[in-house]
Amino acid sequence: METWLLQQGNKKLGAGVVGLAESCRLRYFDVAQRLREPWMRSASGTSSVETTFALRGNFIYAAKVNMERETRCLKRNLLLQALVKDLPPGCIRYSSKIVSIEKGKFEALAFIDGSTIKTKVLVGCDGLNSVVANWLVFRQPTLSGRFACRGLIEDPQNPIMKRHIMEYFLGEGIRFGFSPCNDETLYWFFTWSPSNRGEIVAEEDPLKMRELLMDKLNNSTVPREVIATVEMSDRSCFVAAPLKFRWPFDLLRGNICKDNVCVAGDALHPMTPELGQGACSALEDAVVLARCLGEALLRRGVMEGGEQQFERVEEALREYARGRRWRSFSLVAASYAVGHMQQAAGFFMRFVKEILCELMAWVQFKVAAPDCGKL
Ligand SMILES: Cc1cc2nc3c(=O)[nH]c(=O)nc-3n(C[C@H](O)[C@H](O)[C@H](O)COP(=O)(O)OP(=O)(O)OC[C@H]3O[C@@H](n4cnc5c(N)ncnc54)[C@H](O)[C@@H]3O)c2cc1C
Repeated sequence: METWLLQQGNKKLGAGVVGLAESCRLRYFDVAQRLREPWMRSASGTSSVETTFALRGNFIYAAKVNMERETRCLKRNLLLQALVKDLPPGCIRYSSKIVSIEKGKFEALAFIDGSTIKTKVLVGCDGLNSVVANWLVFRQPTLSGRFACRGLIEDPQNPIMKRHIMEYFLGEGIRFGFSPCNDETLYWFFTWSPSNRGEIVAEEDPLKMRELLMDKLNNSTVPREVIATVEMSDRSCFVAAPLKFRWPFDLLRGNICKDNVCVAGDALHPMTPELGQGACSALEDAVVLARCLGEALLRRGVMEGGEQQFERVEEALREYARGRRWRSFSLVAASYAVGHMQQAAGFFMRFVKEILCELMAWVQFKVAAPDCGKL
């Protein structure tokens, strides 16, 4: 995977979703419009909520038709391309892996190629295994005990593409769902908790993973035509990854920022994917951070020296941390709880799920609709 480093003025380390979003100040509407263009034919984006729940065998089936908010299934690289489009040429330095951070008046970043950079503000957007989060003495993200794999299928002739709803099958140790991105592309995901050593081994072997997935789906109430479509996915889709998250209480205690250094996105709040909010909340971080830093830097005094500027940056990052601490806590905790419950097996949990499924849907909608203010 490429490493992108933004290279102008204040430094950002890593640039998955957050770095890019923050850098071009999102330009909300342009970006949104650009993202809509390739996906115009998607059926989502209408004005009412209809989420249906039904019990199908041991599985809870949920279908989301017509979202209250404009919800779209989007390829990640399209988002990155849309965000990167507004950046001045040459401000991204690719493949610049940071290996260490040296404390000084301005932190010095050391790169794998031996070069160094001094930075006035360091925003670590370097994902799950963040070097910056380590430097801030955050504990490592922890394993959730669940695994995930996901895939995309391009098949314009397939009638499933025309269903235009997101469908989920939850229970008996698995979560499976699929959603059309447009009339030609279907996204599917599968998360599960391995119940024996054989299922853990599947993580490293795409063939075993495919076998495991088909086995689980064939024993579920997922429609046969959907299973057949998933089976056609490219071999590269059948790669499982362990799902990690940050303990929510680490977010309350940990240093989101220190001096002129902070973290954002997965570097701050890695979460399990049940709410589909990892990248979305990374964008929220970017908006809040841009606002805090923007306001601080605009307050510049006429005779101001480096010392005062450093203090203003520090204060801006503290404000950002205050704004994001509880939000990160609630997202990580809610994702974990929802995932755990949705996937759970057994009679008692099925009973609990039936009672709580409306609540789970409410949580999903509620947390996915934050107001992170204006830029
Ligand atoms: C199965 C699954 C499903 C998901 N579904 C959704 C969903 O539906 N909706 C949603 O919003 N989110 C979803 N997510 C989460 C989402 O993918 C992440 O939250 C998001 O990508 C985080 O963005 P980021 O920019 O913080 O980190 P990343 O995307 O991980 O980017 C980090 C960047 O930093 C770079 N980097 C790493 N180390 C260094 C270093 N030492 N030096 C320099 N650069 C470095 C990397 O190369 C990378 O470019 C899902 C995740 C999973 C696993």
